[in-house]
Amino acid sequence: MARETRVEGTCLCGGVRFSVLMPTLFCAHCHCTMCQRAHGAGYVTWFAVSTEMLAFAAGEDLLVRYSSSDHGTRTFCSRCGSTLFCESSHHPDQVNIVLANMSGEIDREPALHVYFDDRAAWVVVGDDLPRLGGKTGMEPVSKDSVP
Ligand SMILES: [Zn+2]
Ligand SMILES: [Zn+2]
Repeated sequence: MARETRVEGTCLCGGVRFSVLMPTLFCAHCHCTMCQRAHGAGYVTWFAVSTEMLAFAAGEDLLVRYSSSDHGTRTFCSRCGSTLFCESSHHPDQVNIVLANMSGEIDREPALHVYFDDRAAWVVVGDDLPRLGGKTGMEPVSKDSVP
């Protein structure tokens, strides 16, 4: 993929429009309970970029920031509720972006599951990607321990 590739993204109502300059840093499925509740979903697929790679084309004034933990902030559209971004003070130079809100393909596929021990009981995962969990959500989970 060309170095200057930009991929566009939007919220559900189209009020917030943004673009992300490749390359991304990582892409992962997050099963934490905060993601489940914030998105009303079994899990959420995120990718991360350096903050300066994210640019807004419209609707920055529609964004509302919610502090979901002592170090995390989730940003959503105040008109349609789409949860778009997550930032952590642990990584102040990065922004996490919801893959489902992108209009085109990014430069990588989801590579792992994180917070896998917190997953919804009704979510069945059928892939062979690494599964991380434990207290930090990032520790290896034995596949044998997964029912
Ligand atoms: Zn919206
Ligand atoms: Zn999460």
